[in-house]
Amino acid sequence: MIYADLHIHIGQSLDGKAVKITASRALTLPNIIKEARDVKGLSLVGIIDAQSPGVRRDFLFLAEKGVLIPLSGGGYAAESLVVIPGTEVELKVGEGNAHFLAYFPTIAQLEAYTRFLKPYVKNLQLSSQKVFLPVEAWLEAVEINGGIWNPAHAFTPHKGIYGSCCRRLAEVLPVCPQALEIGLSADCSMARSISELDEVLLFSNSDAHSLPKIGREYNLLELDDNSFKGLKELFGRQSGRLIANYGFPPQAGKYHRTFCLICEQVVESCPPQLICPKCGSEHVVMGVLDRLLCIADKPLTKSGPDYIYQVQLRQLPGLGPKMYAKLLAVFGTEMAVIHEAPLEQLCEVAGERIAQWIILARNNELPFEAGGGGLFGRIRK
Ligand SMILES: [Zn+2]
Ligand SMILES: [Zn+2]
Repeated sequence: MIYADLHIHIGQSLDGKAVKITASRALTLPNIIKEARDVKGLSLVGIIDAQSPGVRRDFLFLAEKGVLIPLSGGGYAAESLVVIPGTEVELKVGEGNAHFLAYFPTIAQLEAYTRFLKPYVKNLQLSSQKVFLPVEAWLEAVEINGGIWNPAHAFTPHKGIYGSCCRRLAEVLPVCPQALEIGLSADCSMARSISELDEVLLFSNSDAHSLPKIGREYNLLELDDNSFKGLKELFGRQSGRLIANYGFPPQAGKYHRTFCLICEQVVESCPPQLICPKCGSEHVVMGVLDRLLCIADKPLTKSGPDYIYQVQLRQLPGLGPKMYAKLLAVFGTEMAVIHEAPLEQLCEVAGERIAQWIILARNNELPFEAGGGGLFGRIRK
């Protein structure tokens, strides 16, 4: 059983150069390894800024020091954690621009891919750069260098393929993706309301811009081999299984409902709302739910047991850094506290109030004010 978060950014490479400008500077490769493995309890991560020369050097440096051991199936092991190098790019597809993720077996293959890309990208050091190539050419560059790919945060209005480019992938992509990342403001049942995704693996990843956000969404996988090869075989349905997604309740995501830029408010009336019902303005950031209801070809259903709702411990009311440290000291990892620790023991360690919040979160019973326009949903205290 493998807990996998396949979308983690790098704030800066070890040479001190910024990679993802909006991300925390503490988000370095060594810090990510420690946080993901020792605090969150993950066993597979995707570092999606490894096209950056600085980050590639960091991989090679850690491999030289023996912190990362190259695996025969691709990817690198840091004790119990497997790290897969990858990249996020922005491509023009259909009516807009969308983000895509690709993963590679080795730094050498990622480097060959990057060399090909260089004339079509302004600044390879930086994260999520626009690639001035048709999507077909990018897919080919990924494939000939042994990579696998999927659309990133597919439903968000900000650079999500369904959110801002198309109603159907078949209209804009030459092939159907094997996998798709659904993003924080949607869950599997929402994605399953589009028939063309029936056979597509749906992933939930954190898109972490800081260390504490690692693992805010992740996937429970069964892989033949915890390596790039195992992940590739899962993508291709040759072996392995995606058992469950652990993700935000969609209302908690920052683009769940339409947001009016004039009223500066999340729209609350019955979805879909494509203009502001209060002031009539079309200046809105479309909500993921509102957009989905417009493009779905099946009715929305309730999520099944393969989508497990979770919020991060630090989001719960009254749970400060001291209590967080105490819970981790007793139960080991954040995953163990959120999903496994029995109520009685939680009460003993954290007191009844906080224990109740944790249990509400575990049962997906937290009361939310929906998020929108870049503001996360809020727990109603
Ligand atoms: Zn992105
Ligand atoms: Zn308005």
